[in-house]
Amino acid sequence: MTCFGQGEYTAKRKQMVNTQLKARDIKDPATLYAMSNVPRHLFVPQKLQSQAYLDGPLPIGMGQTISQPYIVAFMTQELRVKSKDKVLEIGTGSGYQAAVLAKIVDSVYTIEIVKDLALTAQDRLKELGYTNVNVKWGDGYHGWPMKAPFDAIMVTAGADSIPQPLIDQLKVGGRLIIPVGPNNSVRRLILIKKMENKIISKKLIPVRFVPFTRKH
Ligand code: SAH
Repeated sequence: MTCFGQGEYTAKRKQMVNTQLKARDIKDPATLYAMSNVPRHLFVPQKLQSQAYLDGPLPIGMGQTISQPYIVAFMTQELRVKSKDKVLEIGTGSGYQAAVLAKIVDSVYTIEIVKDLALTAQDRLKELGYTNVNVKWGDGYHGWPMKAPFDAIMVTAGADSIPQPLIDQLKVGGRLIIPVGPNNSVRRLILIKKMENKIISKKLIPVRFVPFTRKH
C-alpha cells in the first residue's frame, strides 16, 4: 500500500483537474473550483486512497462505486448549478458528488438507499465540515417532498426510466440529470429542463452506472 502526505494528494488533485478535466471539455469555473478543492482521497476506502485521483471509478463497499472524476465534473457542469440553488442528489454513495455540489450551491439534499453508506457518508461529510449537506437513508425514487421544489436534481445511479416524483419536485426552469437505459448495458445521461407546460430533454454522453434499485 502506498501512502501519500497531504501535499502529495493536493498535487495529484491538481494534476487530475488539469489532465482529466481541463484537457477534456470541463470549462465551468465553479465545477473546476469544486473539483480542485474537495479531497477525493478522503471519500474512498483507506486502502484505495493512493488511487483516488486516477481516471476511473473505484469501489466504495456494498457493491457500489464512486464515479470517475470526469463523470462527476461533467454532470456538475451540465446541471449548471448556481450559488443560490437548492439541489437534490439521489445516490449519495461515498458523499463525494454531494461534497462537490456543496462547494458550489447553497444547500444539498442527498438520499442513499443502502443504510451503511448513508450513515458513513453523513459522518464523513460532517467531519469534513460540509454543513450545507443533508443526508437521508431511503429510496430516492420518491425524492424528498418535504424539501421540494429543487432548482436541480442529479441522479447518480442508472435508472431504466425517469421517476415522475423527481420531475414533480423540480421548480419551473429547474434541471434534472440522470443516466437512463436498460439494466446491464450502457446508459445515456439525459438532461431535462422543466418548463411551464412542457419538459425539454437532451441526450448527452453514454455512461455506465451501478443500477438504481427500489426498496421493497
Ligand atoms: N454519487 C456517489 C456515487 C453513486 S453510486 C458518490 O459520489 O460516491 C450509486 C449509489 O446510488 C449507490 O450508493 C446506490 O446504493 C445508490 N442507489 C441506488 N438506488 C437508489 C435509490 N433508489 N435511492 C437512493 N440511492 C440509490
